[in-house]
Amino acid sequence: MKDDPRKTDGEWRAALSPEQYRVLRQKGTEAPFSGRYCADHSEGTFVCAACGNALFSSADKFESGSGWPSFTQPVGRENVALESDVTHGMVRTEVLCSRCGGHLGHVFDDGPAPRGQRWCINSAALGLERVQLPAADPADPSGPEAEAATERTFG
Ligand SMILES: [Zn+2]
Repeated sequence: MKDDPRKTDGEWRAALSPEQYRVLRQKGTEAPFSGRYCADHSEGTFVCAACGNALFSSADKFESGSGWPSFTQPVGRENVALESDVTHGMVRTEVLCSRCGGHLGHVFDDGPAPRGQRWCINSAALGLERVQLPAADPADPSGPEAEAATERTFG
């Protein structure tokens, strides 16, 4: 296991950026249209920024206009945990990482057919493992595709 998901609060604070800590550990919400993955249409798997747990696929990402990355479903229902959230005068369903318990965002019932769900997720809670591209031309091993295959970014 590359990261132990059972960290203390101080360890999380040290391991995460201030924005990641505020979202993941303090259930914060980033400002709309501020997150790096809102308008990012790269192909790959979105993982938990805290523990690396696979969460969402770019194939399920859609343009919701909400200002946050939006998905029609998680990669697996067991990859996320759901809790009722009655803060801020609303009844919402909170989405958490099932592995480390980090706050990711909320899921709403106003998504596109056929599933009708909108998983509204903070960019700061996500990392992106881009799709592994085919091996670069051996004649040019340092080409841009070779670098893209190993790129991993965080929100
Ligand atoms: Zn996690």
